[in-house]
This record gives sequence, C-alpha cells and structure tokens, in this order.
Amino acid sequence: MDFDFGADADALRAELRSLIAAEVPADFLGAFTDDPNDLAIAQRFCARLAAERLLTLAWPVEYGGRGGSVWDQTVVREEMWAHHEPRGAQYMGVNWVGPAIMAFGTDEQKALHLPAIGAGEVIWCQGFSEPDAGSDLASLRAKAVAVDGGWKITGQKIWTSYAEMAQWCVLAARVGSGEKKHDGITLFLVPMDTLGITVRPIASSLGRHHLNEVFFDDVVVDDNAVLGGVGNGWQAIRHALAFERVGIARYARCDRLLSALEAELGDGFDELPHAVRASWTRALVAVRVARLLAYRATHLQAEGTPADTAASVARIAVTQADQLVAEALFQALDSSSLRDKASGAVLHGAVEDHYRYAQAATVASGTIEIQRMIVGRSTVGRA
Ligand SMILES: Cc1cc2nc3c(=O)[nH]c(=O)nc-3n(C[C@H](O)[C@H](O)[C@H](O)COP(=O)(O)OP(=O)(O)OC[C@H]3O[C@@H](n4cnc5c(N)ncnc54)[C@H](O)[C@@H]3O)c2cc1C
Repeated sequence: MDFDFGADADALRAELRSLIAAEVPADFLGAFTDDPNDLAIAQRFCARLAAERLLTLAWPVEYGGRGGSVWDQTVVREEMWAHHEPRGAQYMGVNWVGPAIMAFGTDEQKALHLPAIGAGEVIWCQGFSEPDAGSDLASLRAKAVAVDGGWKITGQKIWTSYAEMAQWCVLAARVGSGEKKHDGITLFLVPMDTLGITVRPIASSLGRHHLNEVFFDDVVVDDNAVLGGVGNGWQAIRHALAFERVGIARYARCDRLLSALEAELGDGFDELPHAVRASWTRALVAVRVARLLAYRATHLQAEGTPADTAASVARIAVTQADQLVAEALFQALDSSSLRDKASGAVLHGAVEDHYRYAQAATVASGTIEIQRMIVGRSTVGRA
C-alpha cells in the first residue's frame, strides 16, 4: 500500500502548519494547563479552523465539513497532536461525538449538534467509565428510569476528561435489566448545566483541569436525548471507541519531539552514550511502526470494514511508542549537557509534559491489557 498522501495533502499540511504558527504560541503545551489563557487560545484556534472548514474537514459538506477524505483527516490529526492538540477538548466532538450522531442520531439531533461542533463552539465529554466499570464497561450501573416525556438518570461517572469545561455529555446509562450485561445500555446526550449534575475535578499527573468525577442525581432529560434508540447504546459505544482509539495521533508528537530534542542537542547528540542513542533509535522505530498501524486502521474505516481489532492494534502500538519515547527523551536529557541548563525548561517543558501524559496512555481509551484481549479474541476466537 502506498502511504504517500499526495500533493493536496502536502498543501493541507502546509496550510495547517502556517495556521498553527500564526495562532498558537511556540510554548503552548495544551489547553488544560493551570493557565486559563491556554484554553482561550484553543477556543480561538478552533473558531479559526472552523471558519476555514478545517475543524470538521472530513465531515460531509451538508454537515459543515469539506467532504475531505479520511486521509485528509489523518493529516489534520497528525498536525494537531504534533503541536500539543491546539483544538483542546474539541477533538472529542469532532473525532467521535459528531460521527456517532451522524451514524445514530435523529434529524433533530443532527440539526442541533452537528453545526455547533462544526463551528467549534461546544465542548463534549464522555460519561462512560464508573468507579466499578472501566475495562468491563458493560457492567456500568448508572440508571435511567422512564418518566413522563423523558428519563430520570442517577449514577456516578469517573475519569471524565474535560467535564469541568464541557457543555454536553454523551452519557451511558442502563435502562431496565436485560438478560445480558450489554442489554439495556443506552446513550443520552445531556446538557451539563442540567439540574442534578455535579462535577468534581480530580488532581492528577495530567494537571488539575483534565480528569473529573461527575454525579448525576435524578437528572431529568427529554425523550429526544436518547442517541440511537433505547437499549442500543453498546453498538454506538463500540463505534465511538474505534474512532477514538485511532484519532489520538500521539505518534506524530513523539516523532516531532524526538527531532526537536535532537536539534536542541546539536553536536551533543552524537556524544550521547551508545545505549542512550540505541534506545532513541528503538523509540523512533516504534513510532514509525505505530504510524503505519494507525494508517491500517484508518484504511479499514475508510473502506467501511469493521476496524475494532485494527484500532486496538494501533492503540497498543501508539501507547507503547509513547512510553518508549518518554524514556528515550529523559535518558537523552539526563546524559547531556542540557541537564545542567541554568534556566528554563528544555523545549518549554514539552519533554516533562510528554512524560506525564505517556504514563496515562496505556490506561486511557481502554487499557493495554484490554486492547490485547480484543486482538487475541479476534485472532484465536473467544474461549
Ligand atoms: C487520561 C485518561 C482519560 C480518561 N478519560 C475518560 C473519559 O473522558 N471518559 C470516560 O468514560 N473514561 C475515561 N477514562 C477512563 C478509562 O477509560 C478507564 O480508566 C479505563 O477503561 C480502565 O478502567 P479502570 O480505570 O476502571 O481500570 P480497571 O478496569 O479496574 O483495570 C485495572 C487494571 O486491571 C486490568 N484488567 C481489568 N480487567 C482485566 C481483564 N479482564 N483481564 C486482564 N486485565 C484486566 C486493567 O488492564 C488494568 O491494568 C480516562 C482514563 C485516563 C487515564
């Protein structure tokens, strides 16, 4: 397979890079730092992308996109993740919430939500995980009970990224009690300012503004909040997670950081101990392999072939590459003269930032053990 994306993709990449250079400060480390200005930068940048129809470039024109190919979308993901995701939390809406609404939503839901996501105006969060339902998501206990004209939802979610700043949540809750665990799971599109929702931030190595726990106490939503039909949530969750797993193109940031630190070290790079350069090379190879596996999953999604297994394979490779790169960058810093740099963090703190995020990579979006089980089951069959 030829992975030369062609001249149009090169032009798109150049367009994105010049927009990033113009709109995003060189020391930007993502939207969720302690500096509220970083979130404002991301929001402004999204509005700028949206004005060019670049935010939802791969969406059909009727939904506010440019009708670009998934490969165009791959270029967008790579440039965004390489530059510390200046779309901030918006990537979640663009990457999987919008496509899930396109696939499973009613006309009314499409009309309400897709233009807002396409305009970069709204932040979504994903209310799936619970204190006792992470890897085994189907055992979730949040409960939705039918009331007059709608549903009353009660339960607790945890590790909910961006909940503190989100206006909407895709919430998974159980309706009734089916024979199998997956039965009855239903997705609801819930405004975060609904009475009965409480968000509590969880301080973590990712900073104070990333993870949260969210409580739903008798939260009442309309019938038209249901996405994809009552009891059909599991199918939509699988669809969403396959998109999410491929959409996190951290391999692009890994590649960029390896090159950036090499450039920063200058002649000092060749003076690094052999073992350090060897781990650098292993990390770089892992990054390139991860990129190819992500392309494979994207190719299958583009063909309309089920991509769950390929997405899991790619996710395993990307998260492992992430951690190898984090180690290689730290080893290189530790063995170089930059270790004694008098003031200011190397690469504006991007190495430390990468290390902190890489530790969580093999847990977020489904742990690496679970991804391996998905791959194992599809390869040798379910025991
Ligand atoms: C940075 C980050 C962001 C996140 N954002 C969100 C979000 O926005 N929305 C959301 O809903 N969730 C989010 N999560 C939660 C994430 O999806 C869960 O943490 C993940 O699915 C694991 O669930 P758990 O934490 O309950 O761990 P558990 O499922 O309790 O797993 C604990 C350990 O046991 C292992 N394990 C579990 N079951 C098996 C098994 N059957 N066989 C072998 N090993 C097993 C796991 O691999 C893991 O090592 C986020 C997590 C992180 C780290």
